[in-house]
Amino acid sequence: MRTDSFALRHIGPKESNLQDMLQTIGLDSLEQLIYETIPDDIRLKSPLNLPPALSEHQYAEHIGKLAAKNKVFKSYIGLGYHQSILPAVIQRNILENPGWYTAYTPYQAEIAQGRLEALLNFQTMVSDLTGMEIANASLLDESTAAAEAISLLYALRDRKQKKENVNKFFVSEEVLPQSISLIETRAIPLGIEIVVGNHEEFEFSEQYFGALVQYPGKSGQVFNYADFIAKCQDAGIKTAVAADILSLVKLQAPGELGVDVVVGTTQRFGIPLGYGGPHAAFFATKEEYKRNIPGRIIGVTKDMDGNQALRMALQTREQHIKRDKATSNICTAQVLLAVMAGMYAVYHGPNGLKYIADTVHASAVSLEKELKELGFDQVNSTYFDTLQIKANASSVKEIAEKKEINFFYPDAETVLISLNETTNLEDLNNIVAVFAQLAAKETTPLEELSEEEKIPAELKRKTDFLTHEVFNTYHSETELMRYIKKLERKDLSLNHSMISLGSCTMKLNAASEMLPLSNPQWGNIHPFVPVDQAEGYHFVLRELEKQLNEITGFSATSLQPNSGAQGEYAGLMVIRAYHESRGEGHRNICLIPSSAHGTNPASAVMAGMKVVVTKASENGNIDVDDLREKAIEHKDNLAALMVTYPSTHGVFESAIREITTIIHDNGGQVYMDGANMNAQVGLTNPGVIGADVCHLNLHKTFAIPHGGGGPGVGPICVAEQLKPFLPGNPVVKTGGEQAIGAISSAPWGSSLVCLISYGYIKMLGSKGLQKATEYAILNANYVKERLNEHFKTLYSGERGRAAHEMILDCRPFKANGIEVTDIAKRLIDYGFHSPTVSFPVAGTLMIEPTESESKAELDRFCDALISIRKEIEETSADDTDNMLKNAPHTVAMLTSDEWKFSYSRQKAAFPLDYIADNKFWPSVRRVDEAFGDRNLMCSCPPTEEYAEA
Ligand SMILES: *Cc1c(COP(=O)(O)O)cnc(C)c1O
Repeated sequence: MRTDSFALRHIGPKESNLQDMLQTIGLDSLEQLIYETIPDDIRLKSPLNLPPALSEHQYAEHIGKLAAKNKVFKSYIGLGYHQSILPAVIQRNILENPGWYTAYTPYQAEIAQGRLEALLNFQTMVSDLTGMEIANASLLDESTAAAEAISLLYALRDRKQKKENVNKFFVSEEVLPQSISLIETRAIPLGIEIVVGNHEEFEFSEQYFGALVQYPGKSGQVFNYADFIAKCQDAGIKTAVAADILSLVKLQAPGELGVDVVVGTTQRFGIPLGYGGPHAAFFATKEEYKRNIPGRIIGVTKDMDGNQALRMALQTREQHIKRDKATSNICTAQVLLAVMAGMYAVYHGPNGLKYIADTVHASAVSLEKELKELGFDQVNSTYFDTLQIKANASSVKEIAEKKEINFFYPDAETVLISLNETTNLEDLNNIVAVFAQLAAKETTPLEELSEEEKIPAELKRKTDFLTHEVFNTYHSETELMRYIKKLERKDLSLNHSMISLGSCTMKLNAASEMLPLSNPQWGNIHPFVPVDQAEGYHFVLRELEKQLNEITGFSATSLQPNSGAQGEYAGLMVIRAYHESRGEGHRNICLIPSSAHGTNPASAVMAGMKVVVTKASENGNIDVDDLREKAIEHKDNLAALMVTYPSTHGVFESAIREITTIIHDNGGQVYMDGANMNAQVGLTNPGVIGADVCHLNLHKTFAIPHGGGGPGVGPICVAEQLKPFLPGNPVVKTGGEQAIGAISSAPWGSSLVCLISYGYIKMLGSKGLQKATEYAILNANYVKERLNEHFKTLYSGERGRAAHEMILDCRPFKANGIEVTDIAKRLIDYGFHSPTVSFPVAGTLMIEPTESESKAELDRFCDALISIRKEIEETSADDTDNMLKNAPHTVAMLTSDEWKFSYSRQKAAFPLDYIADNKFWPSVRRVDEAFGDRNLMCSCPPTEEYAEA
């Protein structure tokens, strides 16, 4: 037997565990289990047509060769993407550290204080630099953040504006082209009319509810918007500014002008370009709009003992609650990247950032002088880092590319040059050489940077920023390394124990999949370079598309969406474009089963559809009669069904083909939410069940780490008829022949992390992928049977089997005064992260073990739950003196001189034997959710408050 196969490293249970596990389930073979789990009529007849698996070592060689096919030129293209320097201490201790990248979204705040603090730093940094009162903890990219700003301002129209349906929104032509494309895509279904123009010629009419400008503009000019914003305010027009975060170190903060929203990307704070992403965007606004902020916000609160603690604030705004009333569908964002960008600010501090911004500006000033001496005109009167040179673009391009330099060429007579943190004197002289050659002139090399400033006094930043201690303490590597470690220790990640999050598929993120991300030949490619410089990327992206086509049974894939929810939106927009192309643009009804994930209805509304909810039958399946009735009732306007398969109840519904046929018979298309694809790969697929489009969460099924809440990649895979409409990009050609507008800033979304999924599929191959699915189903059914006597599983398939996850009913324990949250928190004392709480059914836990967990880990987890079940028996409704209500237990509490509870400290902290060997200590006691929302505080609190608490 080969022992170097990656499948052996990825799949948890050993062959020798198989019989034991099957025996627990009551079966003889894995085939029998799969037979009893997946309906016959949707089983694949042949194995996936994928090349044989590579070993980890073979893959390292393979991906190394592909990396060498990318040409790493010096890119001065700008347009929201700049080469930056990722400090090695951050690369090694965060980007390359599973303690950070395998963490889950911080829903269990008590075991997530580390990343919550890192995100609070990020929010504080953004608030400070933008001059705004409140910032969220990252969005997907600058363009979607700008679109979110427009949605927020639209929702905030006053009564009169709403009554008169004021629906025009002004977008400056100086806004980045990818943002304009994306905004136009987003605006159509909402009925917002986008007017693009010159802000200096804008008529401040009451027909507009909002306006967006870019600061500095895309051509590098720093406009003084004070007048523009004041006039907007007078006309009742709310304003948003898309700002370059590094420029804000030197420029007046937009917040000081009274703008309503500031957005942008934090990519240039140490994040690799990665041919487009992932990077964290920021979104900052006024305190009074806090309830409308998209995405997640971290807030300060206190724990049961009154100690300061952090948590995600205002959770009630999440789509799960608001569903089709939600104004945004953001779920997964870019947490790991926000953590890194925030840490970049912690490491450099205000002085370091000033030095970087000053140097970038000085480089631009010096370059301008040189180019002027050569006789070239520079158009921007005020700039931060970008020069606009008048020259023959094609001649410059030819010379520059020979010298391995990229500029941006907006038209035949203009060259844009954006300088960055990495630009040194040698680089500047190389740029000068391009123009000297064009002018056929000699130059003397630049030997030092100019000290002149090109920013007029009224535009200069006069306010302090990053004054908080956290940005002024950790500037040596030793100090930062220890700070990062201190935070990491507070968080439970996959490098401690299993995270059995139903629907989120927290599987192994293998080191061999992650390693290539650190290679600058992947990292340092700007998304708008000529495609022939990204040959390695295009090979991988094309292959990944083919792999995903094969796995889904579809014809084409777009890798552009940066999360599952963005995939949903993209897929529905593609369906919309398809109906329109057939003269059926009136089709706008979207059927969604009641058990759907909250992003489904939110995405449908963003795509301009009307949500009609269909019922669940008693056994948790889609009520086919109700669905048929509604499909027929709406047959003239039916656009789509959104269905999750296997269902969010963890069941392969046998009626699925009947369901998809009903939708097609009534003129609709079927959208399959692919979050549960881990139960399908190699055994069945969305094509076979009759779907037309699905998204995949590469950050769930295909091994991209969760990063504490992102990055994500949510590609859509489509059937032939939808292929022409796959999303495009205004700068680099991509997508279908009749492409819908951009869904993300970058043409191929977060290309860098696509390497992970590519590697996952390459190293598992056809057999390994199928085996992974079979073991995911095996592990789930093993857990189900082991827990059977102690917890009721809510739903099963017709032959009594779960798919890859199951829902445990915790509602009966209310009789003992125990809520599902108490069980979730008590699991922390046992060293485990809770499964999904109260989704899709309130009062339940949804467990998804994944194939990567060994039998030993599954057994520990089951032992923990069974032990907790016994503890529940010992509690009563009116008694709060128990281990569940008080969970989790901290060291401080257990070692305190005072112990006022009836149970022992030993039982509280070490209820089972295995725990002592690998104890995880939560850093705070149970956090007070309500207090935090009532006293919202979303930036680093003054240090005295830490001391007081
Ligand atoms: C995770 C998930 C989504 C949303 O995906 P994001 O990447 O978080 O946007 C949608 N549907 C289901 C069923 C999911 O589990």
